[in-house]
Amino acid sequence: MSIIHYPTLHETSGLPSLAFTSSPRTRESWYEIDLGAIRHNYRQLRAHLPDTVKIFACLKRNGYGCGAGPVAHALAAEGADGFAVASLPDAIAIRETGVDHPILLYPGPLPASAQAVESLELTVTVSSLDELEHWRAALSTTRIFVKVDLGFFRAGATPQEIGRILSAAYAYNDVELQGLYAHLSELPTSSSSAAEEQFARMQRVLAQAESAGTRPPLVMMSSTEGVLRYPLMDLDAVDPGALFIGLPETDHPARPIALRPALKAISTPLVAVKRIDASLGPIPDIPAFRPGMTIGILGMGWGDGLPRKVSSQAAGLVRGQRARLLPPAHLEHLRIDLTDVPDARFGDQVLLLGQQGNEIITLEEVAAQWSTDVVGLYAQLRDHIPRVYS
Ligand SMILES: *Cc1c(COP(=O)(O)O)cnc(C)c1O
Repeated sequence: MSIIHYPTLHETSGLPSLAFTSSPRTRESWYEIDLGAIRHNYRQLRAHLPDTVKIFACLKRNGYGCGAGPVAHALAAEGADGFAVASLPDAIAIRETGVDHPILLYPGPLPASAQAVESLELTVTVSSLDELEHWRAALSTTRIFVKVDLGFFRAGATPQEIGRILSAAYAYNDVELQGLYAHLSELPTSSSSAAEEQFARMQRVLAQAESAGTRPPLVMMSSTEGVLRYPLMDLDAVDPGALFIGLPETDHPARPIALRPALKAISTPLVAVKRIDASLGPIPDIPAFRPGMTIGILGMGWGDGLPRKVSSQAAGLVRGQRARLLPPAHLEHLRIDLTDVPDARFGDQVLLLGQQGNEIITLEEVAAQWSTDVVGLYAQLRDHIPRVYS
């Protein structure tokens, strides 16, 4: 295991540095991320794609909680062609690892951040002529991907508007038009062929651009769902994200890719252990509380990404045994029932996810307890909890 360490301002001040105080040994709780699994998932995807199709790895939300920098570094070593994020801090984290690949910014950063966009050589998304003019006014060279909305009703120009934006972009000497992209809609619709209709819209946009001589060099529209289900939509590049952290089986994928989960463990220590006695007064009126029980206090709470309402079915692993979590959760702490784990001691590490001895708590189990799905669980990982990489 290694801890990715970047120098901080504090390191020269004589005070403990931020990097030090957030390392697993001092911060006590951590996420264990399996970079080998992320590499494996990349290689699986690469093997299923035609050689000509580029891979832009989407690492938004700090690489789905796994650390945009270390994940980008690992994927760059595997041969990824570029990256896509929705925030500047994620782009900065990638550049700090020395990765100099193209980075596309999805809609999010504004021209007020032009200095950072320029110095980090980032590519911005443009969905309208107005956006194009704002970015041009702020940058000396404006690198863009134009975004088209194929029926998601989110960012992106309508198919009807696209031609005008592409022509304008090509007409400017200070604009480098690198690509055109879309994101398939996941909105509910009465149409059973929604994906095909969106692809047909993209094909019409491309046919028009070709006849106008304004087809950008890189066209992409497939994220995880698209790349697994619709090989026809590969086009010049794909930009999946969730795929790299590993997902449970998709229904009838056209590409049966065996993925491995990136998150191996959520570990937090027992910061206190005690037997309840009568001097505490009446037992709280909460299911599972009873006289004489032993409770442990975990060093993680809902301020650390755990759900505000912990399920009474949820468990942690202590000394290789399953022990029930005791709702309610608090901002920084959560109780666990240690009555049946008499060996448990102050400082023991408790797994809220992962394997200890023969006991295992899976991602799917945790996601269900947190009332979310696996991607939602990754999105709940907090940036102040350090990650260790195995
Ligand atoms: C989030 C996102 C992706 C990646 O989606 P996944 O489902 O995680 O693969 C790709 N493109 C855009 C524009 C996105 O917003």
